Amino acid sequence: MSNLYKEAERFLTPNQKEGSLQTRVFNAARNKQIKTDPKHVYALVSSTLKYKPFILDIIKKAKLLKEEKQIRETQALLLVHDLLFSRSGRIQMGKTPLKDSVLKHKTRLSAELTKLKLKHKVRSFDELIEEDDTPVRWFRANTIKTTKEKVLSELEHLEEVDSIKKIQPGTIYHDEFIPNLFGIHPKEKITTTKLYEKGHIIIQDRASCFPAHILNPGPDDYVIDSCAAPGNKTTHLASYIQRDGSINAFERDVRRSKILDKMVTTAGASKIVKINTGDFTQSKPSDFEDVTGLVVDPSCSGSGIFGRAHEEENPEGSYSDERLQKLSSFQFSIVKHALSFPNAKKVVYSTCSIHAQENERVVIDLLNDSQVKNAGWKVANRSRVIPMWPRRGLVEEFQSFPNPEQLAGGCIRSIPKVDGGIGFFAVLFERDVGSELEKAKDVKVEDIEVEDAEEEGEQDQEDQESEYEEWNGFD
Ligand code: SAM
Repeated sequence: MSNLYKEAERFLTPNQKEGSLQTRVFNAARNKQIKTDPKHVYALVSSTLKYKPFILDIIKKAKLLKEEKQIRETQALLLVHDLLFSRSGRIQMGKTPLKDSVLKHKTRLSAELTKLKLKHKVRSFDELIEEDDTPVRWFRANTIKTTKEKVLSELEHLEEVDSIKKIQPGTIYHDEFIPNLFGIHPKEKITTTKLYEKGHIIIQDRASCFPAHILNPGPDDYVIDSCAAPGNKTTHLASYIQRDGSINAFERDVRRSKILDKMVTTAGASKIVKINTGDFTQSKPSDFEDVTGLVVDPSCSGSGIFGRAHEEENPEGSYSDERLQKLSSFQFSIVKHALSFPNAKKVVYSTCSIHAQENERVVIDLLNDSQVKNAGWKVANRSRVIPMWPRRGLVEEFQSFPNPEQLAGGCIRSIPKVDGGIGFFAVLFERDVGSELEKAKDVKVEDIEVEDAEEEGEQDQEDQESEYEEWNGFD
């Protein structure tokens, strides 16, 4: 058995004492208990757990364990996962008796998967996993390739309803907060439509659409998306400024940068977006003098994300203070870097976390930072940040300021499920570049230094794995 499967096997059994799967795998790697890249082990185990009921059903119906008594159930789970439920469809090991004894049953196993897909009326295995508990499936008409009218005409079998509360199978709701965004019942199979395949619609949670809409770039703007993969917000931004070369997207993870590239291409935004594979905090603001706005949507705890798989991964209490502290100091550094671009007037900071440490408290640390203050940055008023959205920042967090209500009003929050999607936070930093620079003549904006963000590197690597799960877009 290859190291990967041997080392992955023990993580299939939950162990609440040792924490989430992510923590267990990365701790084991740190303590040199596993030799394989922990990212691979984590990806294999979390995906196997996600499909476990289906794999077990297939194994049983194909009589694999009955006929191959030497195979343990946990071994079969991992191997059949890779054979049927991975993109490559390959068992990742050289020729061994174990591999051969699974491959002997490949035809039967595949036939059982086909039956399962027919039973569930899905075309691909990933549709077997329902976005359980997702109250609404949100998608936006991709105005780079089409119009909302054309999308609606292709979905004319769905009856339009005027409230999110009226969404049920067979209906479609046109969102009141985000232009070109629609909500349907999660049971509607939108991902099997031509609209989806051609990139005419993009599945994106409503709250995740807030940042681009808040930045609302116009025809003369140049924009940076600092943490871009898989590209939901990048492609959304591109739909606002459909001008070649107007968006620079940074993504430091090479694998995720390829996914970003794929999404940008499918969305028809290849000419609009320039992808930079690298660390945004290492970029030189003076190289981007024309940039007027930035979106910073960095790695976070993902505590606003829900769904069966995610909850298994993150049992309550797995968001330790220490972890949140590390994340928030990284978030502070990366937003501070964004606030140092010489001609930037607007910076949107967002997370899919519900924790104040990653949200309001990052905002507070930035407002208290002398370089940020001197550069003239303020939290924009509610009137500038989707004013009609009812749920705002936490007032109690801003008590040390004379205007806590105003600051909280400038922030947006959404509560997972309750507000029709994922938990989210967004805030807009704004300044009047000309007058603020005049006032602070002795402070050069581009001199703002950013604290070393490297410390969070190790932790962040783990977080990238959970971000992979977050993606609602193309696969
Ligand atoms: N904005 C994306 C979207 O809407 O599809 C999701 C972004 S995800 C929450 C955060 C991303 O930031 C990850 O892909 C991570 O690899 C990337 N990242 C983290 N630190 C970074 C840095 N210093 N520079 C560039 N990318 C970074």
